[in-house]
Amino acid sequence: MTNAVEGLNEVKRRIAAAETEAGRPSGAVTLVAVSKTFDADTIRPVIEAGQRVFGENRVQEALSKWPALKEGFPDLVLHLIGPLQSNKAKEAVALFDVIETVDREKIAAELAKEMNRQDRRPRLYVQVNTGSEPQKAGIDPREAVAFVERCRTRHGLTIDGLMCIPPLDENPGPHFALLEKLARQAGLDRLSMGMSGDYELAVAFGATHVRVGSAIFGAR
Ligand SMILES: *Cc1c(COP(=O)(O)O)cnc(C)c1O
Repeated sequence: MTNAVEGLNEVKRRIAAAETEAGRPSGAVTLVAVSKTFDADTIRPVIEAGQRVFGENRVQEALSKWPALKEGFPDLVLHLIGPLQSNKAKEAVALFDVIETVDREKIAAELAKEMNRQDRRPRLYVQVNTGSEPQKAGIDPREAVAFVERCRTRHGLTIDGLMCIPPLDENPGPHFALLEKLARQAGLDRLSMGMSGDYELAVAFGATHVRVGSAIFGAR
């Protein structure tokens, strides 16, 4: 499993270079290591190599491996980066430290209820469907700023940032730029954007969090 550690070190080196290239302070960008589909034995060496922030896209899968991993490393930070069903809100609030995929009223309401009930407050980001793709999760970009505001006023939720997954077949640059603009309009300073194929570009566009899986762990 030294492969994943090598992958981790290479990605960290490239993020640092991209920060310098973009004139951003060193450490401005947090690497979210996306460990979906990989088991605890594959993930553990990456934790032991110093990585603390991880992303998973399914609540059920995350529940099967992270409670045990978190026991050994209490400072782990776990991001939910996949779509959230309202019947999983309870488990998501209990397990995750950051939920990046708030994208509709029903989920906002369900999260607010669970956060009050459990007295546990994961950070929340709103997912924006920057390409307005019909099959993709996320709020339409034209509604994003108003939705962030409604999360605050109607549900009492603090939204900390925005997240996007650009269309596969398009240059991601304009999507990153759009997300950055929407975050500015909404008064948010966290931007989760950039994956294995485009995280250096995302750093240039102001990403504060990049979600990188296969460049660290290998093909899924
Ligand atoms: C899987 C996934 C990633 C990581 O993708 P890679 O191309 O493997 O880096 C990032 N974000 C989300 C939302 C994902 O589901």
